[in-house]
Amino acid sequence: MPQFILNRNQQSNGDREVHNLSTGCSYMPEPQNQEDLGFHISCSSAVSEAKRQYPGRRINGCYYCCNSCHTS
Ligand SMILES: [Zn+2]
Repeated sequence: MPQFILNRNQQSNGDREVHNLSTGCSYMPEPQNQEDLGFHISCSSAVSEAKRQYPGRRINGCYYCCNSCHTS
């Protein structure tokens, strides 16, 4: 199962993005800006975990490495 992380920094639109650490991503935040979300079968599970851990934050999947979980 791939490992996912959440960017500690929010995007310009206020979203915080989930990235797939196992596949890698051109837009991966620096290690010190990564919140570990653990291993998940899919990005939708990782996004759900991020929302559970950080209620009130706007969580989105990265367009590039979690495209099926990206909402515009
Ligand atoms: Zn990404």
